[in-house]
Amino acid sequence: MPAWTDTTPLFWFWVVMLGLAFGSFLNVVIYRLPLGQSLWRGRSRCPTCETRIAAYDNIPLLSFMLLRARCRHCRAPISGRYPLVELLGVLCLALAAWASPSLLSAIVRAVFLLAMVVVFFVDLDHRIIPDEISLGGIVVGIAAAPLVGVGRIDALIGAAVGVLSFLLIAVGYQKLRGISGMGGGDIKLAGTLGAFLGWKGFLLTVVLGSLAGSVLGILLLARRRATGQTPLPFGCFLAPAGAIVVLVGEHIWAWYLALRVS
Ligand SMILES: [Zn+2]
Repeated sequence: MPAWTDTTPLFWFWVVMLGLAFGSFLNVVIYRLPLGQSLWRGRSRCPTCETRIAAYDNIPLLSFMLLRARCRHCRAPISGRYPLVELLGVLCLALAAWASPSLLSAIVRAVFLLAMVVVFFVDLDHRIIPDEISLGGIVVGIAAAPLVGVGRIDALIGAAVGVLSFLLIAVGYQKLRGISGMGGGDIKLAGTLGAFLGWKGFLLTVVLGSLAGSVLGILLLARRRATGQTPLPFGCFLAPAGAIVVLVGEHIWAWYLALRVS
């Protein structure tokens, strides 16, 4: 544990409380951002009967359990994804605190991890990655990268390598197969990953993401649920891979280099 986290139970109590609050907000972002709705105004509604959800029915985790996963008004089932995302909010904050040497660097890591949760679910649902995150992430990443151990120049190079390499792959794929396999969202996300993680971290992310993608692709093919044409949203692999790299990328590099020497 880094010293600043002060291993008293009180610190981790607040990590859990804040994490649940952020997780609850992530649910709002994942639902509304791709629809272009305001993130700040308007109470949440039941997606089935559109009744406004009262504040006392909107307590993270607790409400889900008390209501037994059903809307109070229409009894329609509530997706288990809501409590899952709330728990992911806690996980993001806890892992960011664990992996960071200072509060500031933990905040940057936490923001990056929370953004990756949004990328994962929005790409899964809509096959898009919102510009607010992919383009905003490039700017924030270049500004904040030094706080997570990536030099400013490295962040700039990383962003450029990310955007250009994915642009090349997209153009090449289009020429070869005649269909676009990679969207503009993926290209911009690559820029964000490069900015936050530096060019080395970006390469590691692509390797991890491609490995995970290949494994899942083979599994799906084996169960005949996919053909070679089924587009798997790449952001769903890049986002978790980027999360791993921002937390333990340095360790993975060290391990890999040790392998090569021995
Ligand atoms: Zn309802």
